[in-house]
Formats: sequence, structure tokens, C-alpha cells
Amino acid sequence: MHDVLIIGAGPAGLSAALWCDKLGLDTLVLEQKKEVGGQLLSIHNAIDDYPGGRAAHGRELRDRLVEETKNSDFDLWTRVEIESVDVKAKRVKLKSGEDLPAIAMIIATGLRRRKLGIPGETELAGRGVIESATKERNALAGKDVCVIGGGDAAAENALLLGEVCPTVTLVHRGKKLSARREFSEQLHTHHCVTVFPESRVVRIIGENHVEAVEIERAQAIKPFQMAVQGVVVRIGFEPNTGCVVGQLKVDARGYLTVDSQQETSVSNVFAIGDVANPLAPTIAGAVGAGATAAKVIASRLGK
Ligand SMILES: Cc1cc2nc3c(=O)[nH]c(=O)nc-3n(C[C@H](O)[C@H](O)[C@H](O)COP(=O)(O)OP(=O)(O)OC[C@H]3O[C@@H](n4cnc5c(N)ncnc54)[C@H](O)[C@@H]3O)c2cc1C
Repeated sequence: MHDVLIIGAGPAGLSAALWCDKLGLDTLVLEQKKEVGGQLLSIHNAIDDYPGGRAAHGRELRDRLVEETKNSDFDLWTRVEIESVDVKAKRVKLKSGEDLPAIAMIIATGLRRRKLGIPGETELAGRGVIESATKERNALAGKDVCVIGGGDAAAENALLLGEVCPTVTLVHRGKKLSARREFSEQLHTHHCVTVFPESRVVRIIGENHVEAVEIERAQAIKPFQMAVQGVVVRIGFEPNTGCVVGQLKVDARGYLTVDSQQETSVSNVFAIGDVANPLAPTIAGAVGAGATAAKVIASRLGK
């Protein structure tokens, strides 16, 4: 029996684990991926808004966090596959057979990129359907690309690619972009960016690599195909709540609901970081929430 089971080893989960360990709580962290760090591993730009923690990119900050964990005694299991979570009983069963009971549980499972769910998206992932324009800019240089989404991230990606690609087509569903005005204005006057409002990409086409996208436009009578060699999908994020679905209270967008102590609708089950923070998902917020949950648990257990 552990004092605390933490699901997820992004900044929130790792912060909670470090605090739990400092406070004398016997702690086990379960991470599904091979590497810890969560979204930090997807940040390819400089981090300059985490007070006291500037870094050239997310991996640098992650490495510093991992270095810190080396002086701690909490257990960390990576590549775990959770079979089921019983939040009331505070028990996690793994597909590998382990049955893990605890006194308290912290959900720190973060967010994942929202997918379109269209044909070709998964099949051509990494073969033209790319994760990040910042990371893959050089690989996409000289190619015609399609960016899907109407928010800040899509706009930023389109502008970034507009520096190196002959054509960038930004496809979004709304009448107007939801990206900040500064981005929208730059996009609408950019020499190689074309914006398709009220439009949807319905299929990504290609044998071994992206060759075209099929687009439906409100103004067009039927879908048409456009030749591109790269596709970037930036349509937002959704919370990773699959392992506790139906067991904890969530808001209208599916984020876990917590009180000021980071406690969920079930006693001694806490949620921290982006999975419980729809309004301001940040590294600072995730790390702070980890500290709060750990301190609340420690005081309840008399530590
Ligand atoms: C491109 C990009 C740039 C960003 N730039 C900044 C920035 O400049 N400044 C800033 O403050 N924030 C930035 N962020 C946001 C920041 O990275 C997040 O707010 C932060 O990582 C949230 O931490 P978290 O621990 O809550 O979640 P995550 O980082 O998402 O970590 C969650 C972890 O839980 C694991 N997990 C999920 N489900 C399970 C499961 N069922 N079983 C086991 N493990 C599971 C995941 O694999 C992951 O490791 C950026 C994010 C992105 C994507």
C-alpha cells in the first residue's frame, strides 16, 4: 500500500512526486510513455514564462526536472498500461497484472492534441502529417503545405511555414479566425498564405507520403483536392481523462473539476495540471498544483 499513487509524469506529476517525497509520503508515479516530461517534450521553442526556469526548449527544462528527481526516493514506473482505475477504492490495476492500492491518488494526465479523425490522419502521421512546424520547418521548406485550425497555434504555424514554403493554405471551420488580431492581420496580407474560412479538410491523401488534401468549402458545390506535401493539424487539445471517465466530476469540456485544494469530487483523489486547468494551462500552474496536492495529502496523513 502506497501513501500516494500519481498517474502521469509531466511537470505536474513530477512536481507532486518531488513534494510528496520531501514530505515523507511513500509515492509511486505511473507514466504510460517511455520518457517522462509530458508536453515539455513537445516544446521546441524557448521557455521564457516559467519564473526562474528559463530554458532553450522543453527538453532542457525536463532534463533539469529529471536531474532533481535523482535525489528523491519516490518510485517511478514508465511504459505502464493501466487496465482500470477505481477512484473510490483508490486502486489502480495494470495490464501487466499488478494491483496497486493507495491512500490518496493524484491524476496528472495532462492533455493530448485533438485529432480530426479523418482518413489519412493517423496512417500518414510522420509521413507528411507532422507534429510541429517549429521542429519540422526545415523538412517542409520548399513544399506546399496545409495548416488546419483557426486559433493562435494554427496561425503561428502557418506564419512560420510561410517563411520557407511556396504556398501555405490555412483551412478553418469558422467565418473568422479565432487567432489574435495581430496573427490574423499578418496572415491575410501574407504573400504566400491563403486562408480558407468555413472549410474542412475531410481526407488526407497519399500512398507513402502526403500528396493532397480533400477540402469541403461552404462556397464550393463539391469537395475538391489540393496538392500538398505537408499537413499540420492544430485544432486544440483535450484532457486525458480516459482512465477515470465516469468516476469524477468534469466540466462541460471534459476537464476534471477540482476545489482550491486540487481535490476532485471524490475524497482524497486530486487532479493537478492541465487535466484540471482549462483556462490557464501552464508549466507554472502545473508545478504549483502539484505542490498544493502533496501538501494537502501530507497534512491529512499527519506528515
Ligand atoms: C507546443 C507547446 C508549447 C508550450 N509552451 C509553453 C510555454 O512556453 N510555457 C508554459 O508555461 N507552458 C507551455 N506549454 C504548456 C505546458 O507544457 C503544459 O501546461 C504542462 O506540460 C502541463 O503539465 P501536466 O503535467 O499537467 O501535463 P502533461 O505535460 O500533458 O503531462 C501529462 C503526462 O501524463 C501522462 N499520461 C497521460 N495519460 C496517462 C495514463 N493513462 N497513464 C499513465 N500516464 C498518462 C502523459 O504521457 C504525460 O507524460 C506548451 C505546450 C505545448 C504543447
